[in-house]
Amino acid sequence: MERSLKNQVALITGASSGIGTGIAKAMAESGATIVVNHSSEHSLESAQTVANDIIKKGGKAITYQCDVSQETEVVNMFQDVVSQLGTVDILVNNAGIQKDAKFTEMTLDQWNAVINVNLTGQFLCAREAIKEFLRRGIDPAKSVACGKIIHISSVHEIIPWAGHVNYASSKGAIRMMMQSLAQEYGAQKIRVNSICPGAIQTPINTNAWNTPEALDSLLTLIPYNRIGTPEDIGNLAVFLASDLSDYITGASIFIDGGMTTFESFATGG
Ligand code: NAD
Repeated sequence: MERSLKNQVALITGASSGIGTGIAKAMAESGATIVVNHSSEHSLESAQTVANDIIKKGGKAITYQCDVSQETEVVNMFQDVVSQLGTVDILVNNAGIQKDAKFTEMTLDQWNAVINVNLTGQFLCAREAIKEFLRRGIDPAKSVACGKIIHISSVHEIIPWAGHVNYASSKGAIRMMMQSLAQEYGAQKIRVNSICPGAIQTPINTNAWNTPEALDSLLTLIPYNRIGTPEDIGNLAVFLASDLSDYITGASIFIDGGMTTFESFATGG
């Protein structure tokens, strides 16, 4: 049973920041060659920093600019990566955004922006990844599976979130996409799972942790009494991408310090 990700290519969307960076570094340490996807010129420098950090530690990484909500860009990214690195073995569908608003004030642009990146972006990348997995077939020297997809969802695929209806809707939909794909491609040995983080300290939720008051308030939701880190998510992603988790497909794995035990009921509700 292969524990490492040696000789496997892992394409991680939105890897120039936060959770994506944590996953990129963890998978590189496990031997994978990393494609550090970033969305625009603006994020090029941080993507290069992530790739350089990996290379300095003896790992392998390239950067690739692509807006995951744009079909042509996604198709080109997969074609270019396959011609440069031979294949893609692991897709981590991580890129995500928030555009929060009270529901009656939410614009169609805010709704579309979140759905386009968080849901359509994951659809486009998953489609291109599965086509490549099927073209390549199983390579037993690398893994017993034909390919692995990890969707980065959220506790908000099951916890409703007032003021964030577009975001919660995108994450709820990811659950059905993930399970339907696991069902459709299980026979071809393609594993598809979701990681559902609770509160992880990244730029997406700075307001939730950057003052002592905000952090105290956040911790009332977390039985384990600490905020999560991108490394926490990286460790789980490595496990889900490796053959150690070969019998796990179609699963949403919550990694949230107990947030989904609904802490407010700890004293009887
Ligand atoms: P982040 O803002 O640090 O990272 C988001 C990344 O997505 C950035 O690198 C950004 O450039 C990239 N991105 C945005 N639009 C893109 C596009 N169109 N194409 C390609 N890349 C794009 O935030 P994060 O917390 O690291 O978020 C990563 C994922 O984790 C998201 O899907 C988010 O919903 C999810 N998540 C985060 C938390 C948390 O507490 N931080 C909790 C649950 C789920």
